[in-house]
Amino acid sequence: MRNRLVALTGLVCFAHLAPLAIGHVPLAAAEPSADELKDRRAALEARLGGQGFTIVVEPPFVVIGDEAAATVKHHASGILHWSIQLLEAEYFKARPSKLIEIWLFKNEKTYRKGARKFFGDEPDTPYGYYSSDHDAMVMNIGPGAGTLVHEVVHPYVEANFPEAPAWFNEGLASMYERPSEKKGHIVGLPNWRLPNLKVQIKDATLPAMTRLLGTTRDEFYNAPFDAYAFARYLLLYLQEQGKLTEFYAKFAADKTDPTGQAALEAVLGEKLDTFEPKWRKWAVALKGDNR
Ligand SMILES: [Zn+2]
Repeated sequence: MRNRLVALTGLVCFAHLAPLAIGHVPLAAAEPSADELKDRRAALEARLGGQGFTIVVEPPFVVIGDEAAATVKHHASGILHWSIQLLEAEYFKARPSKLIEIWLFKNEKTYRKGARKFFGDEPDTPYGYYSSDHDAMVMNIGPGAGTLVHEVVHPYVEANFPEAPAWFNEGLASMYERPSEKKGHIVGLPNWRLPNLKVQIKDATLPAMTRLLGTTRDEFYNAPFDAYAFARYLLLYLQEQGKLTEFYAKFAADKTDPTGQAALEAVLGEKLDTFEPKWRKWAVALKGDNR
């Protein structure tokens, strides 16, 4: 079920976008309360007792991990806490309105085993996925925490900008696959998606930017070009110009601009026709160490 399993990285990554809005009026839904988080932690502890899991509350999430207790706590109070604070400060007023569990498995083997045992899933990605049926992110934390920060973005986009097209949702999430901090702001650094983008620009297989912006959900996830890289590096450019946060705010606020083109041209101060050739030159010249 492609819409049920959300790969965190790689070629497929289906963000969970449960309908949270009726028309354009978001339903009022509260974030999980401290009691709800505590109760879920207790229930998980009772259920998982003796199986080597550590369970930690890191609002608005509950984290379950099979690494050493200190390591699970370090992920929760470290990169997860940090990314929640900085993402909220940068973009998001509302927290996810439902309690989402984050399952961190120490390697691919325990991740696949856990996905099967606890969720009945057979993941089609070695990294991780989001199960909307279970309100849970299930991931292999072994390769690093970038996938965790990627996925944390999705429930926040869902809660704050439910109409966001897939290109923006995945572009923003994939920005933080290699997260860093600059002057108190979360930033994304060039990563492993850059080389393929350069190849597609050089061999002219990357379509016009208007095509990316106009992709439906299915068109984005099934694109014959590297839609993730295209979206990621368009947003990375805006970040480098200090315009990404402004772009997000404009785009999310304007219900008459479903593709984001108007917001993009407004923050850039020019039309895409003149901007896109400059962006392509910038992307080809961009340096990255491919992590
Ligand atoms: Zn994603």
